[in-house]
Amino acid sequence: MFEMAKKYMSGGVNSPVRAFKSVEMEPIFVKSARKSKLIDINNKEYIDYIQSWGALILGHAHEEVVEEIKKQAELGTSYGLCHELEVEMARLIVKHIPSVEMVRMVNSGTEAVMSAIRLARAYTNRELIVKFEGCYHGHSDGLLVKAGSGALTFGMPSSKGVTEKIVSNTLVARYNDIESVKELFDKYGENIACVIVEPVAGNMGVVLPKQGFLEGLREITKEYGSLLIFDEVITGFRVSINGAQGYYNVLPDITTLGKIIGGGLPVGAYGGRREIMELVSPQGPVYQAGTLSGNPLTLAAGIKTIKIIEKDPDFYSKLDELGKYFEEGIVSALGDFDVKVNRIKSMLSFFFSKQEVDSYEKVMNSDVEIYKKLFKYLYENGILLSPSPFESLFISASHTKEDIEKTVHYFEKFSKKLKEG
Ligand code: PMP
Repeated sequence: MFEMAKKYMSGGVNSPVRAFKSVEMEPIFVKSARKSKLIDINNKEYIDYIQSWGALILGHAHEEVVEEIKKQAELGTSYGLCHELEVEMARLIVKHIPSVEMVRMVNSGTEAVMSAIRLARAYTNRELIVKFEGCYHGHSDGLLVKAGSGALTFGMPSSKGVTEKIVSNTLVARYNDIESVKELFDKYGENIACVIVEPVAGNMGVVLPKQGFLEGLREITKEYGSLLIFDEVITGFRVSINGAQGYYNVLPDITTLGKIIGGGLPVGAYGGRREIMELVSPQGPVYQAGTLSGNPLTLAAGIKTIKIIEKDPDFYSKLDELGKYFEEGIVSALGDFDVKVNRIKSMLSFFFSKQEVDSYEKVMNSDVEIYKKLFKYLYENGILLSPSPFESLFISASHTKEDIEKTVHYFEKFSKKLKEG
């Protein structure tokens, strides 16, 4: 299948990470998925910790979500016109995400971020944006940027086809290093439209914000009249029903969402304070539109997902328990190999590193080779981690203690194997 895929699709895939290149393996082709498990086209079953990269907090093909999608499909799959589910979804997002007073639905996280940046520039009448090394915000041109050669400077394109001119408006700071942000503001503060950050980094593996980091960003952006954007595409409805902003009690001006709010269908959203959101077309002068935006199938799945979460007051503490169990299992199995686990609730990653991993630099200094071997060993035994150590692992509400026990069991076997050389 992969050979055929490569004939018709570049690299055989529709998104690079699926190619399993980072572990020097060939991708799996999924036949079906249910709850915590995936089945590939060779009928091999895996316990899945990718969960569509965090989109599936209830697990695969949750019965009630599937039922809602079916019901909606009978009523039409896309209208390109207003419908009631849009209002209901907006109401739910505003109810739960503390800083959001109005919201616009789009079709991906990339689109949400791209639009949020446009809005921040329009609101402030400024050009520059600040992002952090190691944070990912989708693949729009201005955000495909890595740190330049001088540690703190204008960024460099991280993809061919992105011009230096475009990224010359993007400054790159260091995650968890508020001094690096202050330096940028000292120099360019009057022209910085916004700072965009993953409030919990999930795209260099999980890196938690140090105490004071998010608060510091809030303070400095306020001081200079810049906007603070929290990219909660992963963390929204993942770390708490109120997102990371509710969990850490730091409120941004604009929030981007995706993944969970689409219940496993394509989605994105951006929202914020009323006076900012009212700049969006047709009410205001910031153009942004979408044929399939607010798609009824997506919203049926997303609304059901949020309502299932809402119904269970212990939803996040149960996920936290599973997460803790997994974390302790990893530490006990791999403790001899200097493993460090970074976790918040049901998102976690582990690094082979002597030091605590709280920065991009330390992520980059961790040992990737052991991870590759572990990935392969687990894969052979029917457990699917992310093929890269620089992605979060996700536990869903459909994972069981037995799933985690089985996973930890193979971590232990791997550890033994490694010790025996
Ligand atoms: N922001 C963050 C924090 C993400 O993790 C991602 C995707 N993993 C995106 C934006 C882009 O979302 P999408 O892939 O839906 O375009």
